[in-house]
Amino acid sequence: MENTTLMQAYEEKIKRVLITEEEISAAIARAGKEIDAIYDGRPILLVGILKGSFVFMADVCRAVTVPCEVGFMCAKSYYEGTVSSGVVKITMDLQQDISNYHVVILEDIVDTGRTLSDIVKMLRLRNPLSLRVIALLDKPSRRLVDFRADTSLFTIPDHFVIGYGLDCAEQYRNLPYIAEYAEKEK
Ligand code: 5GP
Repeated sequence: MENTTLMQAYEEKIKRVLITEEEISAAIARAGKEIDAIYDGRPILLVGILKGSFVFMADVCRAVTVPCEVGFMCAKSYYEGTVSSGVVKITMDLQQDISNYHVVILEDIVDTGRTLSDIVKMLRLRNPLSLRVIALLDKPSRRLVDFRADTSLFTIPDHFVIGYGLDCAEQYRNLPYIAEYAEKEK
């Protein structure tokens, strides 16, 4: 295929922008203030769930002023495309012993809730000083397990979304906004 055709096919999958860059940065600023107020000078460990949270992490860590460290875990629940496998696998764990940390988990999206429900259970067993979850996006209509983040920046309907860290088959993570992905008609 010609490069222009490839580019056109790529762009056609970006159906419409759901959340703009400006809306994201305003929400991140609010989240930073909320974290500062809650921890009030106490050091925190921000834990990003990869890969989807890497952009979110980069922005949140610069929006807080409390002393902060960052750590990452890799959890996989969607393998290819837009269908959930329903299997949560921890493929990379934290390096830190979290028992001396106030932990703030950053996740890109809560969909069925399985990933975060499992991760929170696992991290609580390691006795952190405290544990909170901040989700960039929440899709409550898709929930299969009883899980709620402490803070969700945006609630969205049941669309498959891309951008700002979120992928479809590993592409589109670099879009600066969040968009609906144009799935094939069923
Ligand atoms: P859960 O375990 O809550 O079903 O799924 C969480 C993970 O599924 C997210 O971290 C994300 O990787 C993936 N996911 C769920 N919904 C979407 C979506 O609309 N777009 C993308 N790109 N990933 C999603």
